[in-house]
Amino acid sequence: MSTTCIYCGEPATGRDHVPPVCLFSKPRPSNLITVPACEQHNGKQSKDDEFFRLQLCARTEAGKSPGILKHYKAIERSFRRPEASGLVEKWNEHTRIRWDTSAGGILQPRYQIRQDFQRQAMVAGRIVRGLYYHEVGEMLPLTVNALAIMDLAFDEIPSPQRETLDQIRADLFDAPHKVVSENEFSYRWIPVDEREFMSVWHLSFFESIWCLGVTNGPDTEWNFDIASGESPKRSDSQSKGTL
Ligand SMILES: [Zn+2]
Repeated sequence: MSTTCIYCGEPATGRDHVPPVCLFSKPRPSNLITVPACEQHNGKQSKDDEFFRLQLCARTEAGKSPGILKHYKAIERSFRRPEASGLVEKWNEHTRIRWDTSAGGILQPRYQIRQDFQRQAMVAGRIVRGLYYHEVGEMLPLTVNALAIMDLAFDEIPSPQRETLDQIRADLFDAPHKVVSENEFSYRWIPVDEREFMSVWHLSFFESIWCLGVTNGPDTEWNFDIASGESPKRSDSQSKGTL
């Protein structure tokens, strides 16, 4: 068992949930994944994590997932906490209300949520790093990026990168489907044999929202602006459309 924090390499003092524990409603399954983490990285990203859950749960797709009601209730409770003012502020920042009169002339509010793909991808990238450790049994070197790109952000990817990623995503569906919590989180992954530390990931949240993740060695270029990892060591060179 590693005694090193998988996010920074400092001595681990506890364990961090992967994905963040707030993505699972109570009663939580007993098989949740945890990884060694230092004091700073042991659940301390909770503001990002809560924002991530908030943005995912606000999407129409999540609303169709069984059990989402428990999350809505948990979010409502989290909003009422005195220390939640930052979260409420962020929520307001990302929300526009449009008044809809389609229901027989009665004014009804429709919420439009601006999705913060960068911040979501940062959380998802951290999940990829954690899952890599869980699956491989070794810490992903800190020089290797763990990047993620959210499903909605796919539309903004130009060709031919888009086609490359679509193909990777299709290949991932042949990999074993690992369900951590039914209706809440599952994933698939494939190691890319010929490149050390390289792997591709498909994460699924609430059975309807997904993101594609990749861990890539220092010699690999994968630098979409919209993808973001927890590591600042991203290549600034132009992508060649290959992974
Ligand atoms: Zn750490």
